[in-house]
Amino acid sequence: MKFIDVYYTSKQVSCPDSSSPSPRKPEWAVKEWLYRKLPVRVIEPAAATRDQIALAHHPRYVDGILSCELMNGFRGLQKEVALSLPWTCGSFLSAARAALENGLVACSPTSGFHHAGLKTAFGYCTFNGLMVAALNLHAEGKVQRVGILDCDQHFGDGTEEIIAAKQLGWIRHVSKERSDPEDAEPFLDQLPRVMRSFSDCDLLMYQAGADQHVDDPLGGFLTTEQLARRDQIVFSEAKAMEIPVVWNLAGGYQEPVHEVLKIHNATMRACIDAYL
Ligand SMILES: [Zn+2]
Repeated sequence: MKFIDVYYTSKQVSCPDSSSPSPRKPEWAVKEWLYRKLPVRVIEPAAATRDQIALAHHPRYVDGILSCELMNGFRGLQKEVALSLPWTCGSFLSAARAALENGLVACSPTSGFHHAGLKTAFGYCTFNGLMVAALNLHAEGKVQRVGILDCDQHFGDGTEEIIAAKQLGWIRHVSKERSDPEDAEPFLDQLPRVMRSFSDCDLLMYQAGADQHVDDPLGGFLTTEQLARRDQIVFSEAKAMEIPVVWNLAGGYQEPVHEVLKIHNATMRACIDAYL
């Protein structure tokens, strides 16, 4: 492997009036990686279709969001957000396919998935791209079991709701609950064991959230060094178990946004160190 493949198009970016930088982050993160001459290869994703999205969500919800009749995860009806959503889901699905094909890793510079439920948008999340990818790849027979390691600082309640509603016993979902202790060293000590619990999965989806940083205004308990250690453990353990990884950016709310991008740069560097 000579490059980390990144599934990006400017069509996945939107700029709603929001306190979250996430819908604009794909462009900024990719620019950072190219500016720093990191060995990444940018590939145009395929858009997710309405029917592909409707495998994870109620069809009337999908139609209502795409036609701007239902409120999106930014509590608005912006057309540009609706237009971006097939591309954010498509970026993640395309990257997941690539990881399965190359057997190692691929990146989707996306956020805004895990609070989206069957027919609800919440917390900057409108469609659950994790579940859209898992359900489509499973329906196509490309995966039997999928692992989701959600290292965003917040619980993936939308993911959990869809798994429960559709009784998806073939998905193993690990996400941080509000009641979980926030002790950095025990968290990192346990992480290799958590990773090995995915050993029977055909694909691991890794949300490398930047809001786990201790300086994040929406939470966080890991220092910059500890976040880098988190990423290093995830990539090295997955590689040792020969489980392909598709990873994305998830949350991150420090200001200026450059502080968030520095964390995503570090995740990309950890990925490069592990795989190239
Ligand atoms: Zn979060």
